This record gives sequence, C-alpha cells and structure tokens, in this order.
Amino acid sequence: MNINLEEKFAARYHKNADAVYFTPGRVNLIGEHIDYNGGLVMPCAITLGTWVAIAPNNENKLRFKSLNFEIETAVESNRVNQKDGGLWTNYPIGVINEFIKDGKEIPGLDFLFYGNIPIGSGLSSSASIEIATAYALNNYFNLGYDKLELVKIAKRVENDFIGLNSGIMDQFAVAFGEKNKAIVLDCETLKYKMVDVDLGNYVLAIINTNKPRELADSKYNERVAECQTALKQLNEEITLHYLCELNAEKFALHSHLITNEVILNRATHVVKENDRVHLAAKALNSGNLEEFGRLMYASHESLRTLYEVSGKELDAVVDFCITYEHVIGARMTGAGFGGCAIALLEKGYEEDFAKHLTDYYIDKIGYPAAIYISEIGSGPYLTTDTHR
Ligand code: ADP
Ligand code: MG
Repeated sequence: MNINLEEKFAARYHKNADAVYFTPGRVNLIGEHIDYNGGLVMPCAITLGTWVAIAPNNENKLRFKSLNFEIETAVESNRVNQKDGGLWTNYPIGVINEFIKDGKEIPGLDFLFYGNIPIGSGLSSSASIEIATAYALNNYFNLGYDKLELVKIAKRVENDFIGLNSGIMDQFAVAFGEKNKAIVLDCETLKYKMVDVDLGNYVLAIINTNKPRELADSKYNERVAECQTALKQLNEEITLHYLCELNAEKFALHSHLITNEVILNRATHVVKENDRVHLAAKALNSGNLEEFGRLMYASHESLRTLYEVSGKELDAVVDFCITYEHVIGARMTGAGFGGCAIALLEKGYEEDFAKHLTDYYIDKIGYPAAIYISEIGSGPYLTTDTHR
C-alpha cells in the first residue's frame, strides 16, 4: 500500500487504529459467461485490494470514511437498515445490517477504507469492500462466521441492499483466494478446487480499457436468455439442466437442434469455454503456462466472435498483446463491453509493455488505458493488530 492508513486514521479520528485488514480484488482467469450455464469459472485474488482500519468509539455511532471518496457519513448503530441514496457507505452499512439482522451486536466503531483497485472497472472493488467489512468485523468481534457465510452475507448485500443481480463468484474469489492459486469454482454447487499457478517468469498485467461498461447489464440479460433458448431446443432430444453438462464432443451430436445461427454461436462458446477451463486447469497443473496462454487467447476470440461481448477497446488490447513478443496470453475478463483485460507478461517488460500498449491504444481508441501489474494474491487477512 502506498498510503499510510494508520497515519490517516489518526489524523481523521484523533486516535490510533486498533486493527487494519486487507481484502483483495479479483480477476477471472478463464471461464467467462458460463457461470449461469452450470460451467466452471477460474478466478483468483489479485494483489490490488481494499484496506480497512478500525477502532471502537463510545458513542454508539458507526463512522465511515474512505480515502477514495469525499463523502463520509456517521449513522447510529441501530439505523443500518436504511440505504443512503447511492453512497459508497451502503456497502459497509449493508454488511453490518446483515450482522444485526442475524442477532449480532455491533457497538460504535470508526472505519477508514482505502482501495487501490480501479473502482467500477470489473475487478470487484465492491466485493472487496463488502468482504473487507465482513471479515474485519467477524475477526475483531469474534462473531463466529466461517468464510462461506461471509461470502453469502456479502452477496446478499450486493443483491438485496445495493440491488445488483450478480452471482457469487466475486465474493467467493475475494474471500477464498490464496497466493499463487486459482479457484476452479462451480457457482451453482459451490464445489471448488484450488489449482497451483506458478507464473514463473511472468506477471499478471491488468489493463483497464477505461471504457464504461454501459451495455453490460442489458446484453448480459440478453445472453442469459439466448442460452436458455439453446437449452430448450436441446431438451427436445436430451434432458439437460445446463448447457455445460455437455462437452464439445457431445454438443456436436445434438447441435443441429439449434436452428438459429446466433443462438448456436452462443451455445458453442459456452460449451467450448467450459472445456477450456478443464484444459486450463490441466495446463496449470503440469506447469504449462504457454498452453494456458493459448487458451486465454482462444477464450477471447470466442467471446469476441461467438458470444459477442467484447468491443473495440478490449479487442485493441488483446490485438496488441498478440503482436507483442513478451506476452503469451491475453483475454477480456468479466462481463465485457469495457472493463478490463488481463495478460501474461514476461517479467522485466512491464515498462516497455505499458509504453507501447499506451501508444497503440490511444491511436486506436483516442484515450489511454490504465495498466496495473499484479500477482495472484491472498484472501483477507489482518495486517496489523495494535491492541491485542
Ligand atoms: P467494481 O466492483 O467493478 O469495482 P461496482 O460498481 O460493482 O464496480 O462497485 C464500485 C463501488 O464500490 C464504488 O462506487 C463504491 O461505492 C464501492 N467501493 C469500492 N471500493 C471502495 C473504497 N475503497 N472506498 C469506498 N467505496 C468503495
Ligand atoms: Mg462490483
């Protein structure tokens, strides 16, 4: 962290912070747009994240301040069941509301947040601040929740309190991430496996297109509906609950049932992307990073041409990566239409990559992208504990 949070805490609250916690953001390495088709995703925690410093107060007040936002608020601890417009404070307030609904008592507390995740660009700064709050309070007050319970609480906040109809991957990845491991997760059953990721001589470059994800929500719903259409047509011949119950080979036996070309393209992406996750896990298990990189490129191509959720900004980043010698794989990550791409970049070329990509991107798109270098980081932890 390039900011002294404890110092800032003392300056804001005129006392020392009692504990500081870190919670990461996340990227999805591969397995895009298949979580709602019974498929596997492969997210990991990143080393960008959210820090929260806390200390009790004797005023029965919850005070929230973030170094990322101007607005700060204080609420009585018994008034957390109300949303405060569109303010950022709804994320921590929503979490505390869940604890209180569950019969826990949360006394007066002062919070200071700081995040170095680019906000609103698909790296899950929202899941990060939710889990940061939940993890911090659970640990500080020994509330007794396990990690999966915290994940479900955070998801409820996002769905019911904030009002975003998102899946469980983000909160799960942020909470369950481990250093140098990816999570192969079935978002329906919540069965998961950790896979070792040895990036060796490579780092994870995260490229924010700086393109707002305007279309993402409506197009997301459209894709969900298209997959349901494909499923319905396949069910005329076989019984399936999800498209991902088929691998590419079995899909080929029945794909003639899908009459519309666009729907067929969508289903083809889904089935093959799920196969790619299995192949990617295998490649990582055998330390074959080049193969993993090829699968990333293939995933992007499929999202671009078959699933049509990319866009000229994400494509520009990946097109540049294909021509850049020191990248072995790249793809859009997240719902698409903007947000971020990821690339496996050889160590030592961070600056060169940033310079050349920036030139290329500005030339194509007209404004700069932002580039972050990350590793595969760990889930939430206590960074300092000054009182106990
Ligand atoms: P994403 O999760 O892709 O970054 P979202 O729109 O889902 O984007 O969530 C971003 C919101 O989460 C911010 O607008 C803010 O309300 C909240 N948030 C995230 N990080 C912080 C932070 N460090 N401090 C305060 N609020 C934050
Ligand atoms: Mg979010």
